[in-house]
Amino acid sequence: METIPITYTEFGIANNYGDHIEMNVHLKEYPKLQSAILFHEKSHTKKTFSKEDIVLDLAPSKMNYLDLFKFMCRYPKTFAQFLPFYKRGNVMFYDINLLIVYAVLLGGIGLTTFLSLK
Ligand SMILES: [Zn+2]
Repeated sequence: METIPITYTEFGIANNYGDHIEMNVHLKEYPKLQSAILFHEKSHTKKTFSKEDIVLDLAPSKMNYLDLFKFMCRYPKTFAQFLPFYKRGNVMFYDINLLIVYAVLLGGIGLTTFLSLK
């Protein structure tokens, strides 16, 4: 894996912007979680939208989700990660992978509900 510059922010957990990875500054205090997240972000492709990226986000990973959840509750600004729209400077971005993940989840919940009503 190539080396990619890392910048730190208060918001969200981590994002791979192609030319750099942005991580929550508080992850520095949780080296195990940070390296798991960094590994995940580095696994992402540079494409805006790809099947590989969606599979990567939906597939089970070695990430300790309990530790991640505790971290998020400790630093609630990390929940900004789940907003499919975000602003950087004056530019609005949207996360197409995240929108598809939501669509899949909602579709799954909808289908389950529909089938259980029958
Ligand atoms: Zn991801």
